[in-house]
Amino acid sequence: MAAIRVIRGDITKQSVDAIVNAANESLLGGGGVDGAIHRAAGPELLAECRALHGCKTGDAKLTKGYRLPAKYVIHTVGPVWRGGAHGESDLLASCYHRSLAIAQEKELVSIAFPNISTGIYGYPKDKAAEIAISSVRQAMAQPTSLQDVVFICFDAENYDRYKKQIY
Ligand code: ADP
Repeated sequence: MAAIRVIRGDITKQSVDAIVNAANESLLGGGGVDGAIHRAAGPELLAECRALHGCKTGDAKLTKGYRLPAKYVIHTVGPVWRGGAHGESDLLASCYHRSLAIAQEKELVSIAFPNISTGIYGYPKDKAAEIAISSVRQAMAQPTSLQDVVFICFDAENYDRYKKQIY
């Protein structure tokens, strides 16, 4: 059974097999955590991303981690919050499931997630946390190579919420 943990911090500093990037459909970089990951990984990451020709919302794609301490980056595209009646919850759950499926295909042992969609994409943090935690718990109930799944919370609000729901 994998451990599910919560850390307050910067995902670009995490020494795990894969960090997940909250990317946009172009995969060509952006603001928030996406910008931080590209800055820390170096220009080789953007070059590999260009060759992927984008990613659909709710899906995920793998690259190497280059100058990051993490070996890989799993780029997933969260939904933009448009009021909740546009499939947002299924798309957000799909980001977690697809990222974990890719980690499993690669037989990775550790993975770190940011709080996907809760920044620029405006997803309500309480709703996003429930989906993130339930999606990960569901996936971890199946046999898996993963032994350590970490939620990296950048802000205090998300950190407190995740701590309450996980511990
Ligand atoms: P989105 O477009 O999916 O909303 P953002 O990058 O704007 O993506 O925000 C997603 C989450 O990532 C937010 O909770 C934000 O606080 C957080 N975040 C921003 N920078 C970092 C970082 N360096 N490490 C971890 N989380 C981060």
